[in-house]
Amino acid sequence: MGAMNAEELAKYKGVFVFAQQVDNVLSGISFELVGEGKRLAEKLGTEVTAVLVGSDVSGLVDELAAYGADKVIVVDDPELKNYRTEPYAHALASVINEFKPEIMLVGATAIGRDLGPTVSARVQTGLTADCTLLEIGDFPVNPIPGKEQKHNQLLMTRPAFGGNTIATIACPDNRPQMATVRPGVMQKLDKVEGAKAEVINYNPGFTPNNRYVEILEISKAVSDIKDIMDAKILVSGGRGVGSAENFKLLEDLADVLGGQVSCSRAVVDSGWKPKELQVGQTGKTVRPQLYFAIGISGAIQHVAGMEESDIIIAINKDPDAPIFDVADYGVVGDLNKIVPALTEAIKAE
Ligand code: FAD
Repeated sequence: MGAMNAEELAKYKGVFVFAQQVDNVLSGISFELVGEGKRLAEKLGTEVTAVLVGSDVSGLVDELAAYGADKVIVVDDPELKNYRTEPYAHALASVINEFKPEIMLVGATAIGRDLGPTVSARVQTGLTADCTLLEIGDFPVNPIPGKEQKHNQLLMTRPAFGGNTIATIACPDNRPQMATVRPGVMQKLDKVEGAKAEVINYNPGFTPNNRYVEILEISKAVSDIKDIMDAKILVSGGRGVGSAENFKLLEDLADVLGGQVSCSRAVVDSGWKPKELQVGQTGKTVRPQLYFAIGISGAIQHVAGMEESDIIIAINKDPDAPIFDVADYGVVGDLNKIVPALTEAIKAE
């Protein structure tokens, strides 16, 4: 991958986001990326374009427009009905080569983690994976004597070294600047019903060479667990809860509040709760209106997944537990006494 010269770099314009859909339903990350893409585009004085890839997907254009997309490039082909690396990578790489965006964002979902790096390799640019913060700014961030500081670069921030440090990465010499973005971190915009986007239909052609994988059968996982990323109230438990059975205390509290139970990784590792309920760096990023952290110490990797919650209430018997540093309200004491008392008090209201 050679560095591009200034003339080549200048050919790349606009912020593109991959609009992920599964079974012709747009994933939440698609709206988050449109919202974040629009914010970045405004800083660059440009537009946000959603790239919608699939089969029979043109019905989804208006929804993308309602959440802020200025343009939608639709790649519609029967080959793209279900996600497969090869035809989707061919579609997205062709869009990049044809339309030359300066920024290309993809969700760090199971699909995006496969698609993003494949496409970045194919179009010969870099990719920063699993970003939690994006900004437009100068790079290097702090001037280094003898080194040119480039302006209006995409500064891509992500946890590094097991979450012990935060790295800011840029791609100053190649385009597009590509990132996968962690779901649940970026803000989607308010929906504007009736908003319209310019639609560009584009099909690079799909030959049998794109059929390296044949899907024989799709079996869907059946789960009655609601996604904790959609919850307005989360009652989250940690190792301090003590056992799988004792989570009943938290479930009762969640019930009276109309909320859901989530947990720390220690709880998943202990086999008390499934991984789907884990909050944190290697779990889900949540942003509820109310987050209870009960018997959770507040390790950096946990906090990374919940610190954006509107109100955080911590219950912990250790007054020095780091969770109190991020909590809006804290109760020091034994959760076995406090949680049932709280549940009863709310019931009595
Ligand atoms: P502990 O740290 O053991 O804390 C238990 C807390 O309960 C203590 O503060 C204690 O004072 C309190 N307590 C005990 N008994 C009571 C009681 N009766 N009443 C009140 N309080 C009580 N962790 C995550 O959560 N999510 C992640 O996504 C995640 N990703 C990670 C990724 C990496 C690469 C690494 C290295 C670690 C990751 N971790 C993650 C693990 C993280 O470092 C911590 O080990 C974990 O969050 C600790 O979970 P905990 O707070 O439940 O347990």
